[in-house]
Amino acid sequence: MLKGKTALVTGSTSGIGLGIARALAQQGADIVLNGFGDTDGPQAEIAALGVKVAYHGADMSQPAEIEAMMKFAAMQFGRVDILVNNAGIQHVAKIENFSVERWDAVIAINLSSAFHATRLALPAMQAADGGKGWGRILNVASVHGLVGSAEKSAYVAAKHGIVGLTKVTALENAITGITCNAICPGWVLTPLVQKQVDAKAAAGNISNEEATRQLLGEKEPSMQFTTPEELGALAVFFCSPAGNNVRGVAWNMDGGWAAQ
Ligand code: NAD
Repeated sequence: MLKGKTALVTGSTSGIGLGIARALAQQGADIVLNGFGDTDGPQAEIAALGVKVAYHGADMSQPAEIEAMMKFAAMQFGRVDILVNNAGIQHVAKIENFSVERWDAVIAINLSSAFHATRLALPAMQAADGGKGWGRILNVASVHGLVGSAEKSAYVAAKHGIVGLTKVTALENAITGITCNAICPGWVLTPLVQKQVDAKAAAGNISNEEATRQLLGEKEPSMQFTTPEELGALAVFFCSPAGNNVRGVAWNMDGGWAAQ
């Protein structure tokens, strides 16, 4: 379905971003990966799906590096048709104790990076399809784009911000073939959340299983993690022809978290 399209997924060396990159590659999209840590493993995994893959190590907190990544993607594949703004970090502390440096980093990586990648991707998307425009911008927000939780001020502010950015991007391109939507997961067992499980286990002197049960029990009525595969399938829907007129939504996949 996505053969001939190029998808750039930020923060795709791990977790949700890698799950979405895999799902888009399974539909035939060529992939530009980004993120830290092991990069060879994810590149080999995507290449094994029979699509072209490239990697750029831009630090998403740095606008100049984002600009270099977008130029690199255009040079490699001609154009970015699908942009998935996914890179994100978490920091947990009460506001009065929240490090200013961590606040700036969370806002830069979880919110401003999406603005920069989007502003740089839009001109080529607008020129696509003989000037009618074609593109898909998916912002990986969070259920924290819809509701708050204590001790996550920067994360909740950034995620509410990216839901707002999603709506404006969708509206500004509403008469084109470019759609922009947000995906709002509840708990997904990735390294980002494993750190929070580990912290809970250490603080309560409880097992990993008990910490996991408590973590889910506090927020997620289904008592189940959403998986990167399920989020990948949702991303594929937004990129499909059936998603042509889905514009500016914030779609939660959260086991009922925001329904409470
Ligand atoms: P993860 O830690 O597994 O992956 C994060 C990715 O971002 C990695 O590839 C990492 O290398 C990359 N990254 C981090 N800082 C970066 C930077 N400065 N520049 C470039 N890349 C950087 O986390 P995840 O859980 O897969 O999170 C992905 C997205 O999903 C984040 O935006 C997160 O807020 C969101 N999310 C996660 C959950 C969850 O429960 N895990 C829930 C809702 C939303």
